[in-house]
Formats: sequence, C-alpha cells, structure tokens
Amino acid sequence: MKFGLKTMAFLYSATLLSGCASSNPYYDASKPHHRPDGFVNSDGTRIAKSMEDVLRWYRERFGKTLPPPPGEFRASYADFKVHPFSKAEWEAAGDRTATWLGHATVLLKIQQFTVLTDPHFSPRAFPIQWAGPAKRKVESPVTVDQLPPINAVVISHNHYDHLDKNTIVELAKRQPSTVFLVPLGVERTLTDWGVENTVALDWWDTAEVNGVPITLVPAHHWSTRTWSDRNETLWGGWVVQHPALRFYFSGDTGYSKDFVEIGKRLGPFDLSAIAVGAYEPRWFMKEQHINPEEAVRIHREVKSARSLGVHWGTFELTDEALDQPLGDVRQAAQRAGLAEDEFVMLEHGQTLALDKP
Ligand code: ZN
Ligand code: ZN
Repeated sequence: MKFGLKTMAFLYSATLLSGCASSNPYYDASKPHHRPDGFVNSDGTRIAKSMEDVLRWYRERFGKTLPPPPGEFRASYADFKVHPFSKAEWEAAGDRTATWLGHATVLLKIQQFTVLTDPHFSPRAFPIQWAGPAKRKVESPVTVDQLPPINAVVISHNHYDHLDKNTIVELAKRQPSTVFLVPLGVERTLTDWGVENTVALDWWDTAEVNGVPITLVPAHHWSTRTWSDRNETLWGGWVVQHPALRFYFSGDTGYSKDFVEIGKRLGPFDLSAIAVGAYEPRWFMKEQHINPEEAVRIHREVKSARSLGVHWGTFELTDEALDQPLGDVRQAAQRAGLAEDEFVMLEHGQTLALDKP
C-alpha cells in the first residue's frame, strides 16, 4: 500500500466532506434538484459521509481479509479474458451491437450510428477516487486510434473513473466531429481541456445528434473533481432513442424512485447498460452505488428487454472482489426469475450482438 491509512482517509474525506463554494450558473429555483451552489438528488438528498464513517470504512477495508466471492467464481486478474478490439469483427457482428470496453465504457452501434459511454482507456482512474490511486487491473481492449467513427460520447458524471482527460482529449483531437454530451457544468472541464464540441443537458432535457434524440435522466449520486467542487456539476444516466434501438445507461447510482419514472417516461428499452460493481460495504456504498440485486430491479423498472452489467472488473474501487459481480449478478437474475441471457455479463472487449441468436 503506497498511501497510509491516515493519508487515504484524509484525501478521501477531503473530497467527500468538502462543501461547494461557487455559485451555480444554471440555478433555476423551479427545479427541485437545483440549489444556488450546485445540485442535489431528486429526493433532495446530498450524499455526504461523516468523518467517522469514512474512517470506519478505511479501518475495515485495510484491517480485514475480504471474504471470497460466492459461487464458483474465484478469478484472479490474470483469468479475466480480454478481447482486443477488431474493427472487422465488430462490423461483422451486425447492425445492433454493444461492446463492453471495460468499466463503464460501452460502444453502442445502431446501424450507422455510434455512441460511446464514459470512455476510459487510461491506466488509472486518477487522482483520488474511492480508494486512492485506482490502477487498472485489466488492460483496455482498445486504444482511441482503434475506435471506429463515434457520433456521440455520453458522460454520466465527473468522477475520475468516468471522465478521463487523456481519453477524451485524444478522441476529440482524432475525431473532431464527435459530440460530447455531458450533465450541466461538466462542459466547463471539457472546455478547459480544449474540447469544443460539447452539449450540456439538465435532467429530462434532450439533444439530437445526427437526428437521434439523446436524453439525460436522473441518477442518485454526487460529483466531485477537485478539492472544493462537490456537487457543483450534475450527474445522471442517458437514454438514446434511435428508431432501431432504445438504449438506457445508468451511470453511477444508488437505488431510488427515479427508475420507475424513467421507465414510465422513456421506456421500454431494447438494451440497458447498468452498473453492477463497487457496492461493498453496503452500509457505506448503498446510497451511491447499487448492488447486482438492485441492478436487476432497475432492469425491470425501466422496462428493459435485455441488460448488460458494467462498472465492474476493471478498477478496484471498493471492498468486493473484482469478480464478485459475476456470481452476484447471476444469483440476483435467477432469484428474480429473469430469462437466460436477459442480464448479460461480457468479457472485456466482447460484443453483444442483438440480432444474432
Ligand atoms: Zn461516481
Ligand atoms: Zn464510478
């Protein structure tokens, strides 16, 4: 461990406990999730942990041997299979595909239209995220220059495992026509990086890219990028309404009433990408990260025909083993009576082809 417990707790709590100082340029008193200094969740909550809780988590995290994951899954990092991205194979997989590129990154292809969620191909989710220097445990299946043309990038929020400077700057440079859709306030960071082609949206607002409506929807989470910007920028999930495929991406979220509402207003969906990792210990993570059981519940509530588990197996952010979501998702899907392959867990770089049996 490179950082001592006290240093880690200090750095983590500095981000989690710090308040926001600036005013919110988007503030609209008629919107319940707006505040003069930033944003809150749809139920009015702001995720904040006491110093006591932060220290307790760190004490427990480094003071114990984590239990093995349930079931037959006990993979070491070396057991994670990586499928290097091949454009030829990707094109041959059909007109409606989703390729998992590690963590929360999904390459969605709907005929000629492509969307990339939270692209992150760098070695670290740096500087401080959930547990200090989050180093990639499984290599990225793709580099920016290997990507096909991307029409739209959707960013869920500004945490370092979702908004990666190197990936975004390089992508914007190589593909200047790509549109970057972000929650309110996140465009300031992209502008600072020299990325011009941005569209910032509030919850339930829609922008069209190549005629395809893309909507930011609520999530139950928080934001921070620096020492003093907590919840100054918005967070959320995304909905893509292509006539040939309706897609939902959860971003990072705790469980809330938002999902029934998303299902009601924008469902049903042909495919969803739902976060299934970074959920232990529950007493600390529950309000900000769903577990596989809640992910399956959300799959049902948004009315998704199929879902893909993301936000796992790549960075070691929390207390569950890196492969634990594999077993937990399978058990949760079985308990809920989901059909075989209704909730899919892909290998890194693997493509789910919706039009193939
Ligand atoms: Zn996050
Ligand atoms: Zn995350």
